[in-house]
Amino acid sequence: MEGRYQHAGIVPAVTKPRRALITGVTGQDAWYLTQLLLADGYQVFGLVHQADAAPVPAGVTAISGDLADSADVRLAIEHSLPDEVYNLGGLSSVALSWEDPLLTADVTGLGFLRVINAVQALPASRAHEVRIVQASSAEIFGEAAGPQTERAAIFPVTPYGAAKAFAHQLARVYRGAGLSISTAIMYNHESPRRPFTFVTRKITSTVARIARGEADRLYVGNLSARRDWGFAGDYARALHLIGRHPVADDFVVASGESHSVADFVATAFRHIGVIDWRALVEIDPRLQRPVDPPEQRGDSSKIRRELGWAPSKSFEEMVGEMVDADLHLMDAAQQSPGQS
Ligand code: GDP
Repeated sequence: MEGRYQHAGIVPAVTKPRRALITGVTGQDAWYLTQLLLADGYQVFGLVHQADAAPVPAGVTAISGDLADSADVRLAIEHSLPDEVYNLGGLSSVALSWEDPLLTADVTGLGFLRVINAVQALPASRAHEVRIVQASSAEIFGEAAGPQTERAAIFPVTPYGAAKAFAHQLARVYRGAGLSISTAIMYNHESPRRPFTFVTRKITSTVARIARGEADRLYVGNLSARRDWGFAGDYARALHLIGRHPVADDFVVASGESHSVADFVATAFRHIGVIDWRALVEIDPRLQRPVDPPEQRGDSSKIRRELGWAPSKSFEEMVGEMVDADLHLMDAAQQSPGQS
């Protein structure tokens, strides 16, 4: 083909790959998003905190820096010159935000303002071309009755929710000032890459250990909290759809179903053939939080209607795949005990 163009004197058009910068690039969501972006031919850059020992996804150009440092963030933007910025960085855990609310406010809240300021510092014609996607959260709505749409009142009840709410408001403020900033208001999303501090991964990894005779109990803070749990790979797809959408906007990303912690536990145990799971589970009050929204459930009609997004996995499929992945990890570790 190339030869034919050259003979005809036609130079084939060279399209430059789009460039994306992901903050929080070592996290669960960034891994899935990176796979999508690389498959689409993007050049992917990732902001990595020095203290972060987690692996950077293959194919990503790592830029060392901290969301809590304005100069670092500015350098990352100048170096990557992104067409799209995905702000996934920050303290991701509600539980941790009670332990370190100041750091949560600085990194998860103000960190996003640093990203916005760094984009604004680019030449104006360039700054207005950059599409910024903020990973917002159901936690901004606190205890509001669900299912929540993009228009639900912002009323956080946790330090994490307050930091995310601040960032969410900034997105709207600077969108009004002409920047292209969208938000993905994501409800809980899980996968085999979820850290063990989250209840889902704690459940699936402990159920796997019980199946292999390496544990005899699962301890949880409560069984009654209800969350709208989806698959992280589907939520990364939503982020990318939002990043490519020409009109900046807010989108709820949710499954629309809520399940209790007890439902999650029962589904995970059922996957290994245990029906009567209650004797294997104990409540540990130390794992309970000072304030915890009893239920979260999102209404994702807008992203389904406007961007054609839909989840690919049911709740049962996702839980089963997480248990299988943890069983597989255990079996692999047993076969090669020296390696982690
Ligand atoms: P979060 O919603 O981002 O905080 O995600 P988590 O997976 O940490 O928590 C989801 C829900 O499970 C919250 O309502 C927690 O209070 C509840 N939960 C109940 N028991 C536990 C537990 O043992 N560990 C954690 N992390 N959460 C628990």
